[in-house]
Parts: sequence; structure tokens; C-alpha cells
Amino acid sequence: DFTKSKTISQQRQNLPIFSVRDELLQVVRENQVVIIIGETGSGKTTQLTQYLYEYGYTVNGIISCTQPRRVAAMSVAKRVSEEMETELGDKVGYAIRFEDATGPSTVIKYMTDGVLLRETLKDPDLEKYSIILMDEAHERSLDTDVLFGILKKVVARRRDFKLIVTSATLNGEKFSNFFGGVPIFHIPGRTFRVQICYSKTPCEDYVEAAVKQAMTIHIAGAPGDILIFLTGQDEIEATCCALSERMEQLISSTKQPVPKLLILPIYSQLPADLQAKIFQKAEDGARKCIVATNIAETSLTIDGIFYVIDTGYGKMKVYNPRMGIDALQVFPISRASADQRAGRAGRTGPGTCYRLYTENAYENEMLQSPVPEIQRTNLGNVVLLLKSLKIQNLLDFDFMDPPPQDSVLNSMYQLWLLGALNDVGDLTDLGRKMVKFPLDPPLAKLLLMGEQLECLSEVLTIVSMLSVPSVFFRPKDREAESDAAREKFFVPESDHLTLLNVYQQWKANEYRGDWCNDHFLQVKGLYKAREIRSQLLDILKTLKIPLTYCGPDWDVVRKTICSAYFHNAAMLKGIGEYVNCRNRMPCNLHPTSALYGSGYTPDYVVYHEAILTTKEYMQCVTAVEPHWLAELGPMFFSV
Ligand code: ADP
Ligand code: MG
Repeated sequence: DFTKSKTISQQRQNLPIFSVRDELLQVVRENQVVIIIGETGSGKTTQLTQYLYEYGYTVNGIISCTQPRRVAAMSVAKRVSEEMETELGDKVGYAIRFEDATGPSTVIKYMTDGVLLRETLKDPDLEKYSIILMDEAHERSLDTDVLFGILKKVVARRRDFKLIVTSATLNGEKFSNFFGGVPIFHIPGRTFRVQICYSKTPCEDYVEAAVKQAMTIHIAGAPGDILIFLTGQDEIEATCCALSERMEQLISSTKQPVPKLLILPIYSQLPADLQAKIFQKAEDGARKCIVATNIAETSLTIDGIFYVIDTGYGKMKVYNPRMGIDALQVFPISRASADQRAGRAGRTGPGTCYRLYTENAYENEMLQSPVPEIQRTNLGNVVLLLKSLKIQNLLDFDFMDPPPQDSVLNSMYQLWLLGALNDVGDLTDLGRKMVKFPLDPPLAKLLLMGEQLECLSEVLTIVSMLSVPSVFFRPKDREAESDAAREKFFVPESDHLTLLNVYQQWKANEYRGDWCNDHFLQVKGLYKAREIRSQLLDILKTLKIPLTYCGPDWDVVRKTICSAYFHNAAMLKGIGEYVNCRNRMPCNLHPTSALYGSGYTPDYVVYHEAILTTKEYMQCVTAVEPHWLAELGPMFFSV
């Protein structure tokens, strides 16, 4: 154990940030707000909090370090608790939505920016924190951007409070100016040269190209791990499969010994134990190949990477106000992101980055830096939150880069439709209640309608199930079998009720894990849903809202869903084809819906959300009666 702790402290002293520890602590002592710029891997996220702790900043408060990504909050907290030799959740903890791994002795708290933002509702001055480190500020996530405006006020009101903003890219000026010209501290870099190799022609299939490139490196390249950047889970899984197939082919087609390749995926929905694997050292002689989303761009630092394969694409959430759709779409990355990706190859020694796009695309087609999330996403939650912080005119809020006026107005319109805002744009009683739940506005509304229509217990289950990734498990080699298992749960008129049915059957089987496995259900997802359910129940209790049950007749549940989701009402156009009643946007039944191919095609449905893939699909659909919609108001049929 001694040797282990010694290596950890040696590792800590080896990080670039260690050489400037004292200077850093001095700037922080002398200034209320400081911007810190340092390369990915210099030690900002794991070391700064510990330096501040060692210096004594936790005497009258907690040190908070915010992260835009949940995976990063969890993984970094785990690492720092190991470095400090304490249990996770003791001195060092983390908090993400629906999961609080902190305790009474927690002094260093890693948390998502969203969780901190919600804490300002209860404690506008964030009194329990002595220092807040806004990490990964260069990502410009929606919640980070809103926090900027809020924390600027906290800084003005609390002299005993300090704010540190860290960024991996050289945009310090902008942050500094926002806070009135505060000091920018640069952590000296220690990176090696990275050779960039461009594709000669635009590449047709970047997954295939990435697999080929990785195999070439593995067979002929010098030792060193590989990091491939792709856009999302499906692509990553497909790439991992393709890589292992190529390896098998290679092994069976040659008599030469083939060096081992350890293929490891990393994306946000990957279970935590599998995520942790990317940090483990491969056995001797083996090469690691990590296949990642842009999570590995700056938020997680993986050592030993000598080769980066950059497909040039990433997924971004974009909101289309006209259609009212939030879609996760694939986009070419920006030059700033491309440079970050390449930089991952030069942390341990000189490396190589293979860009699967042309130099011309890099120079002339890519944007300089990514568009901040606030300028491209649905603002419903933010509007609700700012309204409840008594910010009357949102267009006056101190944003670093203001959102487009259109999307503010559109979000306000949606909240008005939900009944959260009144005609002059103030919060209603319903709106005030909705803010209490860490849920998107329509889901909060669904819960509160469940209260009114006396089926709260049922609706609570549905909301919890909608807050976790799909619980249906569909292994590649057993598709038919798993589809059949899924169909057994179908309630033909509703995907929402299908979810309720799954949960209730699971409960009737004592919440057993083996039962889930037998029925092709994700055990972890269901446990998570149960945990979320109990947390939402706690909030309902604090609001003194009693739990009601409607029993086996689920028509009232459908009616409740209808009244919370009427903004997403659609009417039948053709087989499997619907149009949104309000804006005539086409929306289709998804093949995985309980309503699809059941021979039952209701004239009217409501849906949880629309997603845009190959076409516009409705996700989670429930058949509704036209007179339920008519009772809610004629406006939905007037277009
Ligand atoms: P920065 O925030 O400046 O990008 P970090 O503090 O995240 O840097 O990382 C500093 C170093 O800590 C990394 O180079 C890596 O060696 C180590 N490290 C960080 N997280 C982990 C982890 N989960 N497991 C092992 N080592 C880690
Ligand atoms: Mg970091």
C-alpha cells in the first residue's frame, strides 16, 4: 500500500500544474475571480481542488468543482478520492442529477453544472461553498453559461466567496472580460509535437476508414495506444465489433504471432465499471485502442495515447424552434475541437494524428470554435429557472453570449402552453411547483396533472421510466427473441403504459434481477428508475402532495398524459404517419412503438418527444381521444 501511495504522490508531482502550485495559490488568495488556462492533462481538474483544500479553503465551506458531463464528475471524484486515500463519498464526493454521492464530511464536491444551477434555487448565494471552480468552461454548455451570469452576482454579493474558471483552450480573454478584467493564469504546457496526417480525399465512410487506420497502426506502427473519435454509442459499438472481427481474421490468416489489441469503448451511457477500464494499463505487449465520443476531447485525460484517429465529426444537440424539436445531430467539428483531439496524442511523447478529412476541409470548411449550446438548444428549463430566480426580463439577463431572441420567446410560448407562465409571462402557481422537480417542464407537468387526475403513483412510475435510457435490452445475436419478449409487455394503445406495465410486473416479481434478464430488460436501468421514483416521491412529500392510485383502469392515465403533452398532439395522416396538430410537422410512428404494426391506428396521439434521424419520429406515443384534446382548448386545431 505504501508503494501505491508513493507512486500516486509522485504522479501528482509530475503534473505540469505542480510546478506552479504556489503561484496559483497566491493569485487565488489575492483575487476573487481568476481564470486558469491549461492544456488537457495538466492537472486542473484533479489537482486544483486538492491544493485549495490543503491550503485551508474548506475551513468555512465546501470546494465545488463543476463539470458539464456526468461521466467526468463521477470519474474525477473517484480518482481524487483515491489520491486523497479516502472513500468516495467521504471527503471527496460527487453529485449528478438523481445521484448524490456526498456525505457530512465531504469538502471537495464534483458536480454537474446542472446540479449546481438547481442549488441556486434553494440558496441563491450558494452559502455552503467557499470556492467554486467552473471547470471545462471552454465547452460553453448551456448550464455553464447560465451559471456565469448567476455567479457573477454571487461574486458581487459575497466578499468571502471565490470563483475560479478553468479552460483548456485559449479563450481566457472572453471569460476575463466578462468578470471585469480579472487575471488570467497560464499553466505552462508540457506537450510533445504531434504530426498531423490529412486524408487526401474526403472520406466516404469514416467508420470503415477509422477501422482500417487503426489496424494499420496496430500492425505496422511503433508501440503506443490509439484513441479514435466518433460521434455516438451505435457507431462506437459498431467500430469495436469491426475491430475485433478484423483482429480475429488476422489471427486466423497468419502464422505469425499477432500482438494483442485491447478494444475499449467510452461514451456517456456506458456503465461506470466499463468506463473505468479505459484508465487501466493494458497487459504487457498489448496495445489499447479506445473508441470514444468527444468526451475524451478534454474532460477525461487518458495517458499513453500516441495515435489519434479523428473522424472530424461529433454529435450536438440542436433545437429547431419552428418544429419544436431538440435533435442530436451529427456535425463537422470545429477547428478548436480538431486541435484538442490532435493534442491527445502528444501527452506522453511525440505522436501522430490521422485526420480522416482533407486539409482544405480543416482550413476552409470548419468553424473556428463550436457554437455555444445556449445558442442552439431548447431553453424551456432555463427560462423556468431564471423566472423562479425572479429575473423578470430574460432578454436583460447578463449572458456572455445571449441566446437568440426567437428561441427565448419560443420557449416562453411553450411554457405558457404548459400553463407554467401566465399571459404576461410571470410564473403561475403550477410553474412554481414545476420548478421543484429536476425534470424537463413537460415531465414535471405530467406529475402535477397526475396529482389533479388522481393517478399520481402510476404517472410517477412513467416519469421515472422516461428518465432512464430505454430499459429494453436487444443483444445483437438474439434480436428476434428479445423483440418477442418486448412485445409481451406491449399495451397496444400506449408506449407510456407499456413502460408502466414493465415496471409493475417487475415490482410484482419482487424487483428481481434474474427476472429482468429472463425478460430482456436492463437490470441497471430499472434499478435506476426505482431510485429516481423514490427521489421524486421525496420531493412530492415536501410539497405535501399525497400519492394517489387509479388502479387497473388506465384510461385516466392516458387522459393525464394527454393533458400534459397536448403540445405534442398529432393526428393521423396515413399508415404510421401523423402530423403535429399545431404546426403540421410530419411525425411518424417508430418501429419500436407498441402502436406500430399492431393494426390499431388511433386518429389522435400525443408523444413524449420527436427525434430526427432518417425522418421525424415520435418517441413514446399514447393514443388519445379527440374530445380530451378538444376540452383542452380549440387552439390546437385552428392552424
Ligand atoms: P486536466 O483537468 O488539466 O485536463 P486532470 O486533472 O483531469 O487534467 O488529469 C491530470 C492527470 O491525472 C492525467 O494526466 C492522468 O494521468 C491522471 N488521471 C486523471 N483521471 C484519472 C483516472 N480516472 N484514472 C487514472 N488517472 C487519472
Ligand atoms: Mg479537466
